[in-house]
Amino acid sequence: MNTTRSEDLFAAACRVIPGGVNSPVRAYGSVGGTPRFIERGAGASFWDVDGNRYLDYVLSWGPLAVGHAHPAVVEAISQTASRGTSYGAPTTTETELAELVVATFPAVDLVRLVNSGTEATMTAVRLARAFTGRTRIIQFAGCYHGHADMFLVQAGSAVATLGLPDFPDFPGVPAATTADTLVAPFNDLDAVSALFAGHADEVAAVIVEPVAGNMGVVPPRAGFLDGLQELCRSHGALFILDEVITGFRASPGGAQACWALEPDITCLGKVIGGGLPVGAYGGRRDVMETVAPVGAMFQAGTLSGNPLATSAGLATLRTLQEPGAFDRAESLAGRMASGLQTAAESAGLRLQTAHIGTILGFYFIRDDAPPDAAIHDYDTAREYADTDRYARFFHALLERGVYFAPSQFEAAFLSTVHTETDIDTTIEAAAAVIQTLRD
Ligand code: PMP
Repeated sequence: MNTTRSEDLFAAACRVIPGGVNSPVRAYGSVGGTPRFIERGAGASFWDVDGNRYLDYVLSWGPLAVGHAHPAVVEAISQTASRGTSYGAPTTTETELAELVVATFPAVDLVRLVNSGTEATMTAVRLARAFTGRTRIIQFAGCYHGHADMFLVQAGSAVATLGLPDFPDFPGVPAATTADTLVAPFNDLDAVSALFAGHADEVAAVIVEPVAGNMGVVPPRAGFLDGLQELCRSHGALFILDEVITGFRASPGGAQACWALEPDITCLGKVIGGGLPVGAYGGRRDVMETVAPVGAMFQAGTLSGNPLATSAGLATLRTLQEPGAFDRAESLAGRMASGLQTAAESAGLRLQTAHIGTILGFYFIRDDAPPDAAIHDYDTAREYADTDRYARFFHALLERGVYFAPSQFEAAFLSTVHTETDIDTTIEAAAAVIQTLRD
């Protein structure tokens, strides 16, 4: 595979952009090699600047639920752009997107649009603190809620991938900003009970990814999420569900529909912007009425709810909500998980797979892990996941035109435009590669 243009362009980027990328995991730090520069995408594929085609299971890290350059999304963006890109004054697509979110999530009475998942989660915490008058938050090791200072304690995603320094040595994060962040292991309700017990009346909120998607994919154990909700209720804390990944992916109604949850605040991002920058936080009316200009908690944004992003999001969500669309994409995730599992078994390798809705995850388990090793939190992910084997898998599939995330600790995503043939081709390529990974 010729990648000389990508190599040249990456060298040029490195001269003016730190590490050549605008978000660290794109730099292939944990798998090595040169990141592909992408020229265009269509449907389930994209092409790099050297003309190589890849079947894409990253989908811009989740947002492209209806694939690349979907005609309905392109049309919505072009139509909107021809009339102007931003006014800093209300437009109807903001209300339409908010109506769609409110109709989809019964726990959301009011929603505020922002520009990224990071903005959504950091504001959700500010809101919980304003509403409860308390300052501490509880989060989970290996979860990722964006890059606001207070969340950078045992955070997942690129922090995990790159093995960056962690609390209390996280460069640029003053200890004071994380002093109120309490951390528990994912899936460990007892640890959360203990934190509540040790900090009675101090905890403003618990924030959680309902399906952890930033240390690989770790589903919640039975009873974990409703147990958290219950603990929040009984201790007067708010329950914040970070559905930036799972919203419109775990199910059409997100993870809260799967596990019958009623979070006080829901955070959204990725899919609701259809590939343009959008995030959102929404929830109970009385909580959301704390937000200015109704209440006194300030949050604002020059480009928040801008017409391009909201129309791209609306077109994406309406396409995804067409009858059968989500179910088809979901069934592909299952097909892929079982295909990969079978391929690993026949090669005598241990692979732990998970699929929830249109989200897929798989870990190569290290050969020296105990026979019953299973990943259920950040410690077990770091202990048992074989990142070297994953790096070899990643590159070998890249060579065969299949694009998975350049990190073992990230999720894979399906879209409405992937086909069964795409999945079967991928499984076939993966099976051939897995045979070569035994030693
Ligand atoms: N929350 C979760 C669960 C995420 O996965 C991410 C990003 N991957 C974020 C928040 C932050 O979103 P953004 O990158 O749009 O700021």
